[in-house]
Amino acid sequence: MDGQKQGPPIQKYKQKQQQKGKGRNGAPPLRNIETFERMNFLYQAAHLTAGVSPQLSRFYSSTVKKISTKTVSRLSPEIKRTICKICTSLLIPGYSSTVRIQGQKQRHLSVTCDYCGKIKRFRHEKKEKKKIEPTSGTSS
Ligand SMILES: [Zn+2]
Repeated sequence: MDGQKQGPPIQKYKQKQQQKGKGRNGAPPLRNIETFERMNFLYQAAHLTAGVSPQLSRFYSSTVKKISTKTVSRLSPEIKRTICKICTSLLIPGYSSTVRIQGQKQRHLSVTCDYCGKIKRFRHEKKEKKKIEPTSGTSS
């Protein structure tokens, strides 16, 4: 028996990651996890209350935006696109927003807020289909 004490492997891994200054997959570690947890909770609460009381839902999503600006932590684009810039209501397709594909040459997706009428436009690009080459027959 050697005199060194060894902790559980997970603690060892965390210590190693802290020394390196990197989290999982080489990305920098999250500094303010509590803020992201709170924003996530508020965003889910906004979704749940959207059907019951839109005003409360707007309050929750505006709080999410305030927290992200105060703590200088970015919202992911998927979340940011579902919050109206003007009235901070959730843009749920068919319920609180209208989604249309517009444009002849350059197609874009336009999302209209039903409460304030603000239009968000997102560029829509066609994905080129990859050609699937037929596999050469090795049978017979
Ligand atoms: Zn709006």
